[in-house]
Amino acid sequence: MSKFRSGVLYGQELMDLYADAKQNGYALPGVNAIGTSTVNSILEAAAKVKSPVIVQLSFGGGHFYAGKSLKNDSLQASAAGCLSAAMHVHQVAEMYGVPVVLHTDHCSLENISWIDHLLDFQETYYAKHGKPLFSSHMLDLSEETIEENIEICEKYLTRMNNIEIGLEIELGITGGEEDGVDNSDVDVSKLYTHPSEVYYAYEKLSKISPNFSIAAAFGNVHGVYKPGNVKLSVEILENSQKYVEEQIGAMGTKPVSFVFHGGSGSSPEDIAKSIEYGVIKMNLDTDMQWAFNAGVRDYYAEFGAYVETQIGNPDGEDLPNKKYYDPRKVLRAGEERFVERLETSFADLNCIGRNK
Ligand SMILES: [Zn+2]
Repeated sequence: MSKFRSGVLYGQELMDLYADAKQNGYALPGVNAIGTSTVNSILEAAAKVKSPVIVQLSFGGGHFYAGKSLKNDSLQASAAGCLSAAMHVHQVAEMYGVPVVLHTDHCSLENISWIDHLLDFQETYYAKHGKPLFSSHMLDLSEETIEENIEICEKYLTRMNNIEIGLEIELGITGGEEDGVDNSDVDVSKLYTHPSEVYYAYEKLSKISPNFSIAAAFGNVHGVYKPGNVKLSVEILENSQKYVEEQIGAMGTKPVSFVFHGGSGSSPEDIAKSIEYGVIKMNLDTDMQWAFNAGVRDYYAEFGAYVETQIGNPDGEDLPNKKYYDPRKVLRAGEERFVERLETSFADLNCIGRNK
C-alpha cells in the first residue's frame, strides 16, 4: 500500500503530506512547468524515485502553456494555460502512479487578477466536483508592508480554504531574477526575514486555516550566479521556527512549514540544514531549464549533420533525415536530461521512495 494516493492531492491530504515530510526530514521539489513536455518529465522523475512531487506554474509559464500569441492583458491567458495544465495533470497523474501537488508560483499584487480568474473557475468547479483543481496557490506580496501583505493573504486564505486550497505566502524578498521579475538590486535588509514577521504571519493565518506555508527570505536568490555571491543564512529559518514555538508554547514541534525559493545552485549541506529547520518544499526552475537546454544542445551536437537537410547525411546522400528532425526526438532529449537532473534533486531533498 502506498502512503499517498496517486493523482492531485488537496485539502487535508496536502497537510498530511507536508506533516509527513517534516516528521521524516525530507522536502518536495516544486518544479516549474511550461508545457506538457516538462509536466510529463516531472511526473516521470517522481515515478522513478517513487515519491510525491509538486508541479507548479508561473504566470509566464501559464501564458506560454496557453500560447504566446494569445492576448494576456488581464492575465486571462496565464489563467487559461494554468487551468489547461491542471486538467492535463489530473488526466495523467494516476497513470504515472504519482501523488501530485499542483501549485502556482509567485503572484504579486499587480498580477492578482490571474489568481482571481483561477479561483473564480475553481469555485464553480468545486461546486460541481467537490474538489479544487489546484492544491495550493502562492501570493507574493512581499513588496507591500507586512500588514498589507498579511491582510490580503487573510482574505485569500479564507476564500481558498472554502474550496480546500492551501496558500503559500512570501515574507521578505527572494533576490535575483525570475520570470521577468528582477529583484537583483533590492534593499539588502529585505532579503532577510525577521522571526517576528514569521510569527506575525503565522498567528494571523493559523486562525483561518492551518493549510498555509511561508517562503521566508534567508539570502536565497532566483537564478544561478557565481559561487560567493549568495550569502545564505539558513539560521534565519531555525531562529524563526524557535521564535514561533516559544510564542505558542510548543517547543520542538516545528509549527511553520517553510518553502525554499531559489533552490537552484544551492549546496546539499544548506539544503539538508534547511529541511532540518522545517522546509517542506524547495523550488527548482533555473537548474531544470539548464538541464532541458543541455539535452537539446547535446542532441544537436551529436546529430547536427543529420538535421541540416531533409535528405542526405553522412551515411548516404539519398538517405532521409525525418527520424532525426522529428521534434519529438529533440524534445525527448531535453526531457531525458530534465528527468535525470530532477532525480538528483529528489536525492538532495532526501525525497527518495517517500510513497512506498
Ligand atoms: Zn520563487
